[in-house]
Amino acid sequence: MQSLSPVPSPPVKNLLNQIPAYTPAKSMEQIRRELGLESVDRLAANENPFGSSPLAAEAVRSLGSDLLAQYPDGSSQMLRDKLAERLGVRTSQLVFGSGSFELLTLTAQAYLNPGEESLIPVPSFNWYKGATLLAGGFIHEVPLVNHSLDLEQFRQRINACTRIIWLCNPNNPTGTIFTADALLGLLEHVPSHVVVVLDEAYYEFAESEDYPDTVKLLEQYNNLIILRTFSKIYGLAGLRIGYGIGNESIIEGINRVKLPISLTATSQAAASASLDDHEFVSHCLHYNRQGRETLMQSFDQWKLPYIPSETNFIMVDLLQDSGPITKDLLNRGISVRGGAEFGMPTWLRITIGTPEQITRLIGELDSLLHSNV
Ligand SMILES: *Cc1c(COP(=O)(O)O)cnc(C)c1O
Repeated sequence: MQSLSPVPSPPVKNLLNQIPAYTPAKSMEQIRRELGLESVDRLAANENPFGSSPLAAEAVRSLGSDLLAQYPDGSSQMLRDKLAERLGVRTSQLVFGSGSFELLTLTAQAYLNPGEESLIPVPSFNWYKGATLLAGGFIHEVPLVNHSLDLEQFRQRINACTRIIWLCNPNNPTGTIFTADALLGLLEHVPSHVVVVLDEAYYEFAESEDYPDTVKLLEQYNNLIILRTFSKIYGLAGLRIGYGIGNESIIEGINRVKLPISLTATSQAAASASLDDHEFVSHCLHYNRQGRETLMQSFDQWKLPYIPSETNFIMVDLLQDSGPITKDLLNRGISVRGGAEFGMPTWLRITIGTPEQITRLIGELDSLLHSNV
């Protein structure tokens, strides 16, 4: 028999050739094994170091035995009802997704025509770019000013091609907020065909009086989408639950591109139960505040600049290339994020861990920065 050479695989669609290839991050387990570490403190992804509410685990345990075989409720009704009541919005004003990641993607799929532009803060959450490119749109970067989003800059850059403005408040990775006044100043000038996405993944951590209450703004603005998540304060990153809040007209656009069922029964039950655990939330906020304070005291002592943060992470300037120190910390079992990927190569972004994790981090960082070997 004649030996046949295999049929080559077809090319991906043209649009994808303009998008950098995706390389999955190494798993923590893989890193742990490679470095021969017993455990790694995960201070690189802004996860909740206190885990999640015991009520969430309990709710998942008490799900019936049909859980695996049956489709989950596609409308997430129980979670929807509870969250709508909590937020003071109609149930039809909510959309759920497999993390905010999915909702960011869907927003671009629903509202960005190929060739239109996104205004994107830089540095900020990287997926605004991914979502834009996947929809065939162009990226228009808006640099931060003093590590903060300067909404006046966004206003000035709106042009005929602008279709989505992505705003991150508080901003990841810098931890800064913009104020209610600044937001209103921008919204007044945004044409109604432009969608404003407010990514509020760290909403629950922001304690400044000037932090905007954006749900109220929905009375006035039909071009706003607010995105929040159960991944951060509720510690459910593993279950993938994000939600969008907006008026029916804008939510309808997202529903049109959404997969019919994206939340599992497990996710719905855990999220719904988490909403009842006020004690867990205040416990996490308390230790987060305290941990942030402890870190700032060390940075002050070491005379290192840092960016005051309204979140569960903080950026510090090591005044030297932070790459080698990020590696050294990992070798000592602490995973943090080097600033190079944010265009801030002398900085570290550190998730505020448990008191024990913070003590360990401060000890290791002190020895790496200050021992004269
Ligand atoms: C963590 C994070 C998200 C992603 O959240 P998921 O709901 O887990 O997908 C979105 N935006 C920002 C700014 C984040 O930091």
